[in-house]
Amino acid sequence: MPAPKLPEGLKSAWLLDCEAFAEAIAPDAELTVSQWADANRVLGELSAEPGPWRTDRVPYAREIMDALSASDLTQEVVLMKGTQVAGTEIGNNWIGYIVDVAPGPAMMVMPTSNTGKRSSRTRLAKMIEATPNLKAKISDASRDKSNTASLKEFPGGILVIAGANSAAELKSTPVRYLFEDELDEYPDDVDGQGPADELAEKRTDTYGFRRKIYKPSTPTIRGRSKIEAAYNRSDRRRYYVPCPHCRQEQVLAWGQMRFETRRVRELRCAACGVIAELVGGATPDICTSCKAKVDPVQILERDTGEVLEVWYECGHCTGRIDEHHKTAMIERGRWIAEAPGPGKPAGFHLSALYSPLGWFSWTAAVKKRLEAEKDPTGELLKVWTNTVLGETYAEASEQPSDLDLKNRAEGYRIGTVPMAGLMLTASVDVQADRLEAEVGAWGRGEESWLVQYEVIHGDTETSVPWDRLSEFLELTFPHESGSKLRIIATAIDAGFRTQMVYDFCRHRTHRHVFAVKGQARAGKSILGRPTPQDVTHKGTTIKGGVQLWPVGVDTAKARIYARLKITMTGPGCMHFPLGLPDEYYKGLTAERLVTRYHKGYARMSWEKDAGARNEPLDLKVYAYAAALYAGITRVNWDKLEATLKLTGADLFVAAAQAEEAKPGDAPLPEKPAAARATQPTPSGRGNFINRWRN
Ligand SMILES: [Zn+2]
Repeated sequence: MPAPKLPEGLKSAWLLDCEAFAEAIAPDAELTVSQWADANRVLGELSAEPGPWRTDRVPYAREIMDALSASDLTQEVVLMKGTQVAGTEIGNNWIGYIVDVAPGPAMMVMPTSNTGKRSSRTRLAKMIEATPNLKAKISDASRDKSNTASLKEFPGGILVIAGANSAAELKSTPVRYLFEDELDEYPDDVDGQGPADELAEKRTDTYGFRRKIYKPSTPTIRGRSKIEAAYNRSDRRRYYVPCPHCRQEQVLAWGQMRFETRRVRELRCAACGVIAELVGGATPDICTSCKAKVDPVQILERDTGEVLEVWYECGHCTGRIDEHHKTAMIERGRWIAEAPGPGKPAGFHLSALYSPLGWFSWTAAVKKRLEAEKDPTGELLKVWTNTVLGETYAEASEQPSDLDLKNRAEGYRIGTVPMAGLMLTASVDVQADRLEAEVGAWGRGEESWLVQYEVIHGDTETSVPWDRLSEFLELTFPHESGSKLRIIATAIDAGFRTQMVYDFCRHRTHRHVFAVKGQARAGKSILGRPTPQDVTHKGTTIKGGVQLWPVGVDTAKARIYARLKITMTGPGCMHFPLGLPDEYYKGLTAERLVTRYHKGYARMSWEKDAGARNEPLDLKVYAYAAALYAGITRVNWDKLEATLKLTGADLFVAAAQAEEAKPGDAPLPEKPAAARATQPTPSGRGNFINRWRN
């Protein structure tokens, strides 16, 4: 049936007729978008895979398309996505379906009028050209004004192509079907009339429950992302795929991605400075260049950063899943809603890790990530997070999500130290009715692992909880190598029960238990210069007495929150064991950096969510201060690791043995801190780890 000829401009009266007309020709109520696409859609030459569309190639797309079908009651379909998962083709299929079997007034919104016209001339025109059913229904553009870059007419309906930057285009006509492509790029205010997406969605009001809105978009900045907001309001479906080994279903997560880079062993001769790559297991006794005798510590392993292989580690059985398994896994996958509920929009999240074999590979995801990490501006990391993970990017010091962190918890047990964690520090927060303590492990690049989080109940004005804390700080923690680690430095917040804290620290200075006080001011260094607290009645400082170390908490929180965003094992990454209580993650993420205006000046300050407890964040701050105190920035990790593995014992024992073997090299680790207490210079601290310094 031919479309009625229209006068200039479209009249809503005609559109209502058009709607009645559409219902009169009654689309095949049983036909779904995926069935239509499989039967009719042909991908043009420009497509990654030209030829007939096959939903089987992207099995996760079936449920999304079917929610857009006439027989489905869903009004709004949200797809938050990474690249190369066919998000746009799903929309194209839907448009083809509308034109061919479910006609009605439709609008496709692109971020700008120009991108709208361009995609109309390329994407839509090519689809119509390549798909016979569509070509038969939309007249040839060259001969007919009913087919232009901004308007396509077809029997029973029209398709308007609008730009989100033009209020006039968005307000042109009521529509039953609305396709909002790349929603996150829409302006928040268009021509002074409000957000573009809201203007567009108002067009669908007259259609009530019969409307359909499809929103596919790559997300952008956390907190400002429209697609994330839409996804969070939806029933939040994620695609679970079975492990080929243990069959357990899981969402493909970046935290389970594993890769190997090429490592080389090198001899760095201390005598002549020549660096020679060692092939095979060779360990020469002398330098090949100057013939000087070689100390084994001069042989170092270096990571070249060249990606050799990439695989996925099953979150359940830890089995190795190679990329060729992906096709079968996705075929057997299914969507599971995290927040199901009647009347909610259907929300789908897909990262590029689901991209079909041959489109975007896991190797490409890893390589892009490694590239992004080298970009000091953070811009590439943002792009990577948005386009590969299909997740929003939290800008520095923005609030991380407690659920994200919890989901990232790894397969090491609480109370144990993974292989790369080589040094333990602790921190203690003092409340009226309890002490909270955390033990953290540190490794190369300040990568860290939470080892233990402990709440010791009891009135902190009495000695009961303090005695238990004393025992706790004496514990040793099993290291994955089979050896044991002890806490080498502990920071205790002296902001409350100050005298109790001083008394506790006073008797433990030899174990590097020290008092700290937070300073909430921008720009403070994380660990400042200490001031002596123990003075005689004559006002002179008592040697070996208690010192109070100032901690720049604002600076530390910004660094910690920036690090919580790092999802890839390596420098700065913070790891959490399985089994931590939800309160821990809530407390860790309880604050955010807020800008307040005071007499016209912007001031940034950290604020706590109302009613939230933030002890876990304070503990992280002080544990980091303790690591800085212990000299984490100057540790020679290779030496430390070698000593640990060699002796398979307590690091302190190992250090003492190493000292006996090479006397006079450095002070013993057990050496009391008293000797340096009177000279509280930054270089004076951390002497006890001299053994492992660079
Ligand atoms: Zn498995």
